[in-house]
Amino acid sequence: MAADVIARFHRLQGDDVLLITGTDEHGQKIQRTAEQLNRDPQAHCDEIAAGFQDLWARLDIQYDRFSRTTSDRHTAIVKEFFQRVWDKGDIYLGQQKGWYCVDCEEFKEERDLLPEKFCPIHTNRGVEWRDEENYFFRLSRYQQQLLEHYAAHPDFILPESRRNEVLNFVKQGLQDFSISRINLDWGIPVPDNPKHTLYVWFDALLAYVTALLDSEDEPTLDNALSKWWPVNLHLIGKDILRFHAVYWPAMLLSAGLPLPGAVFGHGFLTKDGQKMGKTLGNTLDPFELVEQYGADAVRYYFLKEIEFGKDGDFNETRFVNILNADLANDLGNLLNRTLKMAVKYCDGKVPVVEVKDIPETLSVLELAQTAGHDVAEAYRNLQFSTACGIALSLARAGNKFIDEQAPWSQYKAGNLVQVNQTLYAVLEMVRLAAYLLAPVVPTLSTKIYQQLGYTIHFNQIESLTQTIPFEIHSRWGALPPGQNFGRPEPIFQKILTPQLV
Ligand SMILES: [Zn+2]
Repeated sequence: MAADVIARFHRLQGDDVLLITGTDEHGQKIQRTAEQLNRDPQAHCDEIAAGFQDLWARLDIQYDRFSRTTSDRHTAIVKEFFQRVWDKGDIYLGQQKGWYCVDCEEFKEERDLLPEKFCPIHTNRGVEWRDEENYFFRLSRYQQQLLEHYAAHPDFILPESRRNEVLNFVKQGLQDFSISRINLDWGIPVPDNPKHTLYVWFDALLAYVTALLDSEDEPTLDNALSKWWPVNLHLIGKDILRFHAVYWPAMLLSAGLPLPGAVFGHGFLTKDGQKMGKTLGNTLDPFELVEQYGADAVRYYFLKEIEFGKDGDFNETRFVNILNADLANDLGNLLNRTLKMAVKYCDGKVPVVEVKDIPETLSVLELAQTAGHDVAEAYRNLQFSTACGIALSLARAGNKFIDEQAPWSQYKAGNLVQVNQTLYAVLEMVRLAAYLLAPVVPTLSTKIYQQLGYTIHFNQIESLTQTIPFEIHSRWGALPPGQNFGRPEPIFQKILTPQLV
């Protein structure tokens, strides 16, 4: 959802955007899970990938490409990349001994393990002892270069807490890591030594590169890297930070490729203050959540309620309260009551005013004139909660303003210029809030725009930059006076009681 918001914001601004998501499908964890389910691993992966695609569609996530590591094109890219790193002299055969967590697909330092040799992340699973011949990648060779890159690009690892985590790790000294496994079939064979299978992470990270190929391209590294590389941002969970912020840039340096702009590690979700888990029986089913409340509600809650980068909590009562307060009351009711007044007092049209004549002294104008800039800045910095908060403050200010101005009294007193200015100002604030929230709640913003008389849909991304250009619509005064309204209807139904069991 966060990645989709970033992509939508940049598309609104007219930027070229490629949003990639997908599934990495190899490795022991997948193989074992499929075995336990008595299923062919490929069939298992097909089902998982289809499940994500279905969920992304329900959540209105408009990705451009879905990358799967079991595609033939991906294998070709991985083999070519392996060869480059091999030619550089960064791969050698050695003996791997250590404690392995299959769920993490990662060797663990003994000092990091919990009592009884349990994984610190998978706290109910024991790690396994391994002593086998593996190919190794010379990570140790890149310690200095990585530290120099982190120093020269302070925004390479975000947020700052994660950056510090990685800096501490790298400063302690980097050890070469093994990039192959034996006794594992489910993966890409090591070129020239098929007894070995490539370590899932060595292959998985390259999915970002494979996804850059156009469908008609030959699967070569040159083709893949010719258009979009280096990407601006990898958006990942905090548990896989080390792979993205240490291993991956070192692999790219070895292959002589430029590094991505930034790696952002987001937090984890809890439910009612507790870690979620199947064994705890308190998982949150995203399908159920969307089914019950709709995509906009789910998107809004998580993006508004969590300071992006930190861990966040889902609590259904809070979820309902926030949606009712922000979307049904502050925004929805404001539009509804203002439209009713405009129908009554202004001929069912956007009030006819000279926008420049609206007094600069109006209390709401200052906020309206800075909101677009401030929200854009917040989106650029991935501060979604701040962006939502500023947009909502427009609605709150609008509510206060309409109560203060009391256009019904202005009308009775015959001050029609004032009535028009008041109602125009409030409708324009609702429009501005809707526009600025569109990356987060595209359907709700569309409803507001359509009731204000526009015919656009925020999910039709191709046409938006022509019909509602950012530089005009993110600013005060874009609503055309005299525009006929669309059909009024509640934009967000108030939720009466929590619906999940
Ligand atoms: Zn683990």
